[in-house]
Amino acid sequence: MPHMKNRQIRLASRPTGMPTPENFEFTDCEMPVPREGEVLIRTLYISVDPYLRGRMREGRSYIPPFAVGQVIVSGAVGEVLESRSPAFQTGDAVVGGLLPWQLYSVASAGMIQKVNPELAPITTALGILGMPGLTAYFGLMDIGRPQKGETVVVSGAAGAVGTAVCQIARLKGCRVIGIAGGAEKTRYLKEELSLDATIDYKTATGQKSVTELREELSAVCPNGVSVYFDNVGGEISDAVMMLISQGARVVICGLISLYNLDKPDIGPRIQPYLLVNSALMQGFIITRYANRFGEGLQQLSEWLTEGKLKYAETIVEGFENVPQAFIGLFKGENLGKQIVKVA
Ligand code: NDP
Repeated sequence: MPHMKNRQIRLASRPTGMPTPENFEFTDCEMPVPREGEVLIRTLYISVDPYLRGRMREGRSYIPPFAVGQVIVSGAVGEVLESRSPAFQTGDAVVGGLLPWQLYSVASAGMIQKVNPELAPITTALGILGMPGLTAYFGLMDIGRPQKGETVVVSGAAGAVGTAVCQIARLKGCRVIGIAGGAEKTRYLKEELSLDATIDYKTATGQKSVTELREELSAVCPNGVSVYFDNVGGEISDAVMMLISQGARVVICGLISLYNLDKPDIGPRIQPYLLVNSALMQGFIITRYANRFGEGLQQLSEWLTEGKLKYAETIVEGFENVPQAFIGLFKGENLGKQIVKVA
């Protein structure tokens, strides 16, 4: 492939607190050549995800940290330019969860799946029909187990996972309350996704206090909270935990409000709320459900084609904007799934 320039984004330094553009470095690199069993991919869309922040810090997690100087990898959708695998043909649209932030890359056939462009726009493979959609589906259905008529509260409600959780809970006949930052997001949740109520956790200068949040929540949850799907942690969750009802299920999906903290956050003791309500709290990592992804995608695609499930995507253009789009996740710049259009 002569005359094609390749470029990649590496971790230049570990962020302290909020990541900055200086934590990332753009470098020119070789055009990779696929070997037997591999394909050459032109990256079309890159997914930026909150969990990548965890991989930028040192220390043990469920996934090893990036080394400084390493190319960042995340979800991406691309087009096969050259295939040396019988499973793929030139022109196929593909998705992979661990593709490099790079204009052109090589992947082994086992690392990517075909995307069906006739089912939905290919960007959905990074959102509603991808990892975030599956996270919403399995986290809510398997751990939250929503029952008709129950009250479900979702934090991070206007994001990729949150918008899907809210709608699935509605499909299951629940009363759904979404917590998100800003009037535009709460309007979207109420008017477009038909939630029963919303809470804007932000103020003009910061964030509402736990007391304010609890008061606003208790006004819209007169019977308490049966299922809490938590995407954010921190004080928002402190407020929700005070309102859980008998037999509540608390789904710990994400803790984005803590990802940029240098020291662990010390919150209130929540055991009494769990104890007196015989409530359950469970965390999960979506890869745990890998052997059921087919089932999840089948259900999500069905709801989507039946018009029962909507999705929002915030798409910024340009490879040079990938770091900024990632940083924007921590400032709430996205409605629905944040994606960068690269080509
Ligand atoms: P989102 O699309 O929800 O984007 C992140 C959103 O988080 C922002 O738009 C912002 O919305 C909100 N946010 C940012 N900072 C704060 C803060 N300090 N306090 C409260 N809200 C904040 O991302 P995803 O849908 O991809 O992910 C949502 C959560 O789910 C994340 O915590 C992520 O780590 C987790 N996750 C977990 C998985 C698992 O396997 N367990 C898999 C996938 C995601 P707003 O404007 O409302 O503040």
